[in-house]
Amino acid sequence: MNDLLTIALSKGRIFKETLPLLAQAGIEPVDDPETSRKLILDTSDAAVKLVIIRAADVPTYVEYGAADVGVAGKDVLLEHGGNGLYEPLDLGIARCRLMVAGPETAPASVRRLRIATKYVNSTRRFYADRQEQVEIIKLYGSMELAPIVGLADRIVDVVDTGNTLKANGLVPLEHIADISSRLVVNKASMKMKHERITKFIADLKAACHS
Ligand code: AMP
Repeated sequence: MNDLLTIALSKGRIFKETLPLLAQAGIEPVDDPETSRKLILDTSDAAVKLVIIRAADVPTYVEYGAADVGVAGKDVLLEHGGNGLYEPLDLGIARCRLMVAGPETAPASVRRLRIATKYVNSTRRFYADRQEQVEIIKLYGSMELAPIVGLADRIVDVVDTGNTLKANGLVPLEHIADISSRLVVNKASMKMKHERITKFIADLKAACHS
């Protein structure tokens, strides 16, 4: 049971909402990642470390075994493809929806719809399933701006309250997927550190249901 467990987490909403679950599993970070510049945080359990990385990098760290486990949004996992990962637990946190959004009324266009998004793979799959030909424009953030300045007809983004869309004159148009954060586990770690990781999953599961 003394195996070192490395947990990959991103700052912000996922970190804040995962923290109480980790605390119930007996794991509390020694430093606050929002103020600390450290990328590896010690915890109250000497055999558990947290690595603090960009949300979109969590599946990659876990896939390659640089972290044994991680917490990633389903939006990020859909985009990554989930290769080389187990996804044993829906933590039910950071809930939102992946949606197509755009202006309420748009002038008819003869060209293909242009969709701005950072979710290129999910967007491609969504329109391919509907056999609709669209042009996808990759952006890294502030997707809501794209229709306003004429860069795209629509966007694909995660929506929570819808306030950001509304503030930019956009409305949700189509639902692609319900999103929440998932625990992901490296496949080799699951074998090599089976007892430790099984306990960690059970502890988090109990914390989710308490
Ligand atoms: P909203 O509450 O719809 O105004 O959401 C505001 C912005 O926060 C959206 O444009 C999203 O980019 C982002 N956002 C909301 N919920 C999540 C989430 N669960 N995970 C990642 N990003 C989110």
